[in-house]
Amino acid sequence: MRYAIISDIHSNTEALRAVVDDFRAQQVDRVVCLGDVVGYGAEPRECIEMVRELSSMTIAGNHDWAAIEKTSIEYFNRYAKEATYWTREALTDEDKEWIQGLPLVEKPQEDIVLAHSTLYVPEAFDYIQTSYDAYLSFEALEGRVCFVGHSHIPITFFQEDQITYSLDPIVRLPEQGKAIVNVGSVGQPRDNNPRASYGIYDAESRVVEVRRVDYDIEGACRKIIDAGLPEVLGERLKVGR
Ligand code: ZN
Repeated sequence: MRYAIISDIHSNTEALRAVVDDFRAQQVDRVVCLGDVVGYGAEPRECIEMVRELSSMTIAGNHDWAAIEKTSIEYFNRYAKEATYWTREALTDEDKEWIQGLPLVEKPQEDIVLAHSTLYVPEAFDYIQTSYDAYLSFEALEGRVCFVGHSHIPITFFQEDQITYSLDPIVRLPEQGKAIVNVGSVGQPRDNNPRASYGIYDAESRVVEVRRVDYDIEGACRKIIDAGLPEVLGERLKVGR
């Protein structure tokens, strides 16, 4: 089984379309989505529609929950807050019902777990940034590999004798031990690389590949400005931050 794993699309249809074109050429069998379909960008409805059509399993992210007032946005910065209020207005009741039905953790197959943020308190939307953060989720991981999004920064943590990590775009998961893989963000990369990011996982060979895809950033940026969203949300796409 070859999975395309997409995350953190953030209402960016230009990036999502480019990623779909890329994974269609990569012969994947199944698409899964790790959440944050909406928030920040100008086309939340279009992204929901595309994800509903493409993805066989979708997890809720904090921005999805924020859009239906299911989580506090107190800790969001002013631009994220502004985009959340805008997104709440843009979504239909049907879109909101769909978000309402999304789980926080799901298993597409026995040894694979999907989550947006962490496994130990998924509803708190903490970040996995350090080995200790990874350790907490490894303790809660029932399976060999967990795919996460949320930080928008691709990285793989391994738990064997100790916890290590790799920033390599292609990694083979170890025979023994566990792994937590962040596949990066489709619609708002933050690792200083503006190209859209997503993962392909081959469950037989246990190889993960984080792929980067060029897309029409100018187009996405223009839509953000035309929608009356904060200009900075378009500008950050150009630099990948
Ligand atoms: Zn996100």
